[in-house]
Amino acid sequence: MKRLNPVIADLLTIFKMDKKFVRGEGYYLYEADGTRYTDFIAQYGAIPLGYNHEAIWAALDQIRANMLPSLCQPSTPIKAVELAQFLLDKMPKNLSVCTFGQSGAEAVEAAIKLARAATRKRKIVSTWKSFHGKTAGALAATGQEVYQKPFFIDTSDYIKIPYNDEAALEKVLQEQGDQIAGFLVEPVQGEGGVNVPLPTYLHKAQELCRRYGVLFILDEIQTGLGRMGNWAVCVEQGLEPDILLLSKALGGGIVPIGVCMSTSALWEEDDFGKNHSATFANNNFTCSISLAYLKYLEQNQHLFQQVKQNGAYMRERLLQIQQKWPGVIKEVRGEAYLQAIEFEEIDAGDSYEFAILCSQGGLGYLISGFLLNVYKLRIMPYLNQEMAVRIEPPLTISREEIDKLLHAIDRTCEIL
Ligand code: PLP
Repeated sequence: MKRLNPVIADLLTIFKMDKKFVRGEGYYLYEADGTRYTDFIAQYGAIPLGYNHEAIWAALDQIRANMLPSLCQPSTPIKAVELAQFLLDKMPKNLSVCTFGQSGAEAVEAAIKLARAATRKRKIVSTWKSFHGKTAGALAATGQEVYQKPFFIDTSDYIKIPYNDEAALEKVLQEQGDQIAGFLVEPVQGEGGVNVPLPTYLHKAQELCRRYGVLFILDEIQTGLGRMGNWAVCVEQGLEPDILLLSKALGGGIVPIGVCMSTSALWEEDDFGKNHSATFANNNFTCSISLAYLKYLEQNQHLFQQVKQNGAYMRERLLQIQQKWPGVIKEVRGEAYLQAIEFEEIDAGDSYEFAILCSQGGLGYLISGFLLNVYKLRIMPYLNQEMAVRIEPPLTISREEIDKLLHAIDRTCEIL
């Protein structure tokens, strides 16, 4: 096992990942003493344009200038209608209804309820290592037992199968399809360590769901709205999910919002619509901010190309670093601006140390530090702990900052 140089180990105790940021500007975060960090986490995808973006400020100014009422239930706020129309225009054409809520987990809850009400079946299939949120229903569908255990989460109606495994999906649908309402899946597993399936997987999954009368539910809460260099993975791949979930970036970096998009066929038996609501859902304030972000994306579609090109470049360079320092990096995973490095030696907590080192710019080698996320995945008790560092910057990040990070990673691999 490659052990950490004791001098470095000592230094690491001085550095802390927990920072107190007082200011955010673009992709930079600042501590009170002016120390600057480049954000390579972007709140797990929820800060798509960085901090204090002018497009978002302009929307806030407009809300104020127009004295737009935020809530006006039981009427539907005008901005919620506008946002729904915008989303329906961009997302797969089979979708025709938007149900808004305040978070990703809430969108997942809506999907589970809608799928059950529409099919009159109760079971939900999802995948191991998946992450769908931490409210009771979304957590039951999440394929990470560690988050469920302390809370006595009832998972009896939730079936887990391996990710990227068409045969496992077919088997469960064949055996229990008459009790299964939907198959809930991420196009790329985000929180599960950035796992990219085979290019055919999602199409095959959709086809199997159709064949066995089970709803195909895509969770694009992390992958959607720019992160993968497109409006959504399902749009790029030509998929037609029965239900599509978006959140994170939808909030433009400042408001909590999620949406469950669905086909009108699911609303024939309208038990869901009559019985599902929330006080703060459909509000003009959050919907205006979402619209500001989406319109910015629409007017700046070069960002999609930039995310893809820079993402491919980053992956290529990470693979080169992996080869250059054998025995340090086990695997480089991901695409676009959702990537991860998994480490060869798990025991020593190398990736944690690695991230701290990188956050210091490779031991002060660079002027600015980096903010990175460290996974400590304990998916199932019988699996070893996996550790990986996630790289998930705002879409606006510059090539120069990416180069600085790659340089710090390279140097850190040398030191480790
Ligand atoms: N689904 C996916 C794919 C996610 O990545 C997340 C959050 O990380 C969620 C659902 C839950 O979203 P939230 O944290 O807003 O409840």
